[in-house]
Amino acid sequence: MSYNLFETPIEFLKGVGPLRADILKKELQIFTFGDLLTFYPFRYLDRSRFFQTDELNTNMPFVQLKGYIKDIQFHGGKRITRMTANFYDEHGKIELVWFAGIKWLKDKFRPNIEYIIFGKPTVFNGKFNITHPELQAVAEQNLTTNSSLQAFYNSTEKLKTRGLDSKGISSIMRNLMIQVAGFIEETLPDGLVLDLKLMKRSQAIINIHFPKSFPILAEAQNRIKFEELFFLQLKLLKLKLIRTEKSKGFIFGSVGKHFNDFFFNCLHFELTNAQKKVIKEIRTDLGSGKQMNRLLQGDVGSGKTLVALMLMLLGIDNSYQACIMAPTEILAIQHFENIKKLLKGLDIKVCLLTGSTKTKERKIIHEELLNGQINILIGTHALLEDIVQFQNLGIVIIDEQHRFGVAQRAKLWAKNDQPPHILVMTATPIPRTLAMTCYGDLEISVIDELPPGRKAIKTFHYFESKRLLVFGFMKEQIKQGRQIYVVYPLINESEKLDLMNLMQGYESIVRVFPLPEYAVSIVHGKMKAADKDYEMQRFVKGETQIMVATTVIEVGVDVPNASVMIIENSERFGLSQLHQLRGRVGRGADQSFCILMTGNKISSDGKKRIETMVRTTDGFEIAEQDLKLRGPGDIEGTQQSGITDLKLSDIIKDEKILLLARKTAIEVLNDDPQLENPKNIRIVNELKNLNKHNTNWSKIS
Ligand code: ADP
Ligand code: MG
Repeated sequence: MSYNLFETPIEFLKGVGPLRADILKKELQIFTFGDLLTFYPFRYLDRSRFFQTDELNTNMPFVQLKGYIKDIQFHGGKRITRMTANFYDEHGKIELVWFAGIKWLKDKFRPNIEYIIFGKPTVFNGKFNITHPELQAVAEQNLTTNSSLQAFYNSTEKLKTRGLDSKGISSIMRNLMIQVAGFIEETLPDGLVLDLKLMKRSQAIINIHFPKSFPILAEAQNRIKFEELFFLQLKLLKLKLIRTEKSKGFIFGSVGKHFNDFFFNCLHFELTNAQKKVIKEIRTDLGSGKQMNRLLQGDVGSGKTLVALMLMLLGIDNSYQACIMAPTEILAIQHFENIKKLLKGLDIKVCLLTGSTKTKERKIIHEELLNGQINILIGTHALLEDIVQFQNLGIVIIDEQHRFGVAQRAKLWAKNDQPPHILVMTATPIPRTLAMTCYGDLEISVIDELPPGRKAIKTFHYFESKRLLVFGFMKEQIKQGRQIYVVYPLINESEKLDLMNLMQGYESIVRVFPLPEYAVSIVHGKMKAADKDYEMQRFVKGETQIMVATTVIEVGVDVPNASVMIIENSERFGLSQLHQLRGRVGRGADQSFCILMTGNKISSDGKKRIETMVRTTDGFEIAEQDLKLRGPGDIEGTQQSGITDLKLSDIIKDEKILLLARKTAIEVLNDDPQLENPKNIRIVNELKNLNKHNTNWSKIS
């Protein structure tokens, strides 16, 4: 069929026309019949349920009442501006109010007719009222509605001016149904629909817009959610399949001298069980002959970098080069210093390449990469430049994935004819369901254990008014030899104000902690790199006791002696950022503290974030909470993941459906990897259809 009914431009739908079409396109991105069909209601109301006048509360969105309209009054003198009436049922009365349409309405009411009214209850002068209720005589009711559930659609002011409020949308939806209901095609194989006891797609779509009952609605929603998640998973898993098929992976077969030297001579502690488990998982990949694409999750300080280093050594033992890409220069430098220290005495050449590497030095690095003299290259985005070419790049470690786009990940694969193994490390724990959708094409390893001897960080929340108490606490900690971070937010929109805030904070700290007894470092984004580095180094060496900084330290220095993290205006930080910042302390053996300072007034979301931080240090719990508060679309790195294409499903609330969808997608692909079996033809067609409309997945592979 060359003509697709669902691609029909929306203006051709009965009741729409060019003007409404224009607004539908602009406001809701509804261009075609198909777009409107998948514009789902956000809420339903049971119109068979009648409330009583004495059980109303202001939290009720919309209610339906049955009773009599009496005591009509007009207000506003000669020019009537307002009409009121009392509405009585057996339990009491409420007031009805109209500001418009009075002329037309005023002769319509009959005192002895029973009405059904419908609207949102509000309180005015201590009494419940409903403004501009919808009205219907009971006698007429059964004639006009055949469904007792009414769907509500999101609308906007602009849509409303063209009569497309929720009711208006519902009405054009009805016209659409009349035209297309018989043509809604199934997207899943019959066998699957049967096995999983799913509602047919056509039934589901009709019932989502015009449900017959709540149980049927639930079934309809379940079907549509399954479908959305199933195709998302299928796309991701197919991507993975294509990659493992297309690209052979280097085999890191032997454990050699470098690995063993490090393990037996340089490593001064036992690996945690979690580290051992993860290394085993990864070594299986590295021996499989397939390219590894793995996400390594673990809280700050859980020992990911160490795991990465050991894998790089394995690569070097098998005569490959390795690189680490970090999101910031500071972090790259830190990795560089750290790894050089760990590899001391071993014959391994490690180099650093960042935006500030001098041209001369850069040239040498480029050469030594090509002739294989450099074993490990550590750097920032600078590594992605085309001019950076390796002799034999075998393994790439990407730190802090959420700051790099998927496209950048792909760029690294292209550094060799045969793609290197990729290990993506993230310290921001990703809830399982999000990981499954966002990184569904990657294998996942988790380090869920901290090295022994770490004391849980104690977290407190103080209002600004307790500032002196906090200063006292700082003095006490410094007396015990500890160092302290004081972090200020720096958010682009109000940069100037924030900087002022930071400088004022710094000055007041210097007043309370004066030289020569104390020394205070300051670091912020507006400083020259050399000055930043100097200040940072003073703190690292212990020459200063307090480091006042903006979030530049978020993924920065590792100072085990720093055991207090004070976060100013903490209500302005996101949860994952707070968690990252707190992870800067708690690295040594001493009891560490995190103090969250806030103004006296905090938004309710702000309050929830602070409470979460005080309650738990579990990164996964925090990430779950973050996801709940912000929604998946706002979390960095999800934009390209296809989550934003989900119209009905919610990867948190619909976890069960997601798991089933993933399991089903795996089974389908195991059974028919190329999707060439005729029974899967619908799946193939729907994938094509989705690719036309949604996120451009070809960019990823
Ligand atoms: P991450 O990269 O996950 O933040 P790192 O690998 O940087 O963590 O490790 C944090 C600190 O813990 C480092 O100082 C590291 O040497 C140390 N460390 C790592 N693994 C262990 C272990 N098994 N036992 C003790 N200390 C460890
Ligand atoms: Mg780290």
